[in-house]
Amino acid sequence: MVFEGIVVGKTPYKERDLIVKVLLRSGFLASFYVYGGQGGGKHHKPSLFEFGSMMRIHTKEQGSKGVEKTELMTVSEYERIWEPTSIRHNVKAFYLSCLYYEIILKFVVSYHPEHGELDQEHEGIFAVVSNALFYLDKSLAANTFEAHQHLHLFLVKLLYHLGIMPDVDYCVYCGEDLLQSEGVHFLITEGQFSCLNCVQEKNDMGFLLRIKKAYQTKYQNMHEVHGTNLVETEKLLNYFCHHFHVKMVDLKSYQLIF
Ligand SMILES: [Zn+2]
Repeated sequence: MVFEGIVVGKTPYKERDLIVKVLLRSGFLASFYVYGGQGGGKHHKPSLFEFGSMMRIHTKEQGSKGVEKTELMTVSEYERIWEPTSIRHNVKAFYLSCLYYEIILKFVVSYHPEHGELDQEHEGIFAVVSNALFYLDKSLAANTFEAHQHLHLFLVKLLYHLGIMPDVDYCVYCGEDLLQSEGVHFLITEGQFSCLNCVQEKNDMGFLLRIKKAYQTKYQNMHEVHGTNLVETEKLLNYFCHHFHVKMVDLKSYQLIF
């Protein structure tokens, strides 16, 4: 079988082998065993399985009758289709990409050879990750990289595809049109906005507008998403963590970026 996807995890195994986790185009996560995948050896072959690389992978036929198919598939051939060129040279950007992988691995569904990829509702997740990496790499080349701007857009797009995007139109308590309201407040644990009549708290109207903007803006126009900041991005990340029962401190890369 042939698979295409992005390398989001890898573990060296034995002297030269590698186990890689790949986010497939279908949005499922597949695990592959690659003989000699670490590179090296007497010809000093480089490993093509760098984080963020887009790979095409051929697997050996497995699971002949009576043998149970395993989730770890053995690779017969592989080639790299795309690789980020600038990310690994910028420490902040590199850890931001690692944070993307950490976030994805918190909820992604594993591919199993017997179940296939019938369920197509996860495709959007692959699109978010591939766009995030492509435009991160591009922004570094153009010298316009701003970590919170990238993370803000990534999280908004991801929350949308996960179906847990905050309602940016109506107050969660009274149903009032949020844009008609004098102010709004973001409730992190619920991932919803309320009007300031229902909750007398800090006004988050700017945050609401920046979520709307990120939702409406395509990745190629991401420079149009202005005014993002660390405080707001962290609120989105907090909400994600709350929803998936993840502790912020478990997202190791996050501490290394900001
Ligand atoms: Zn209200």
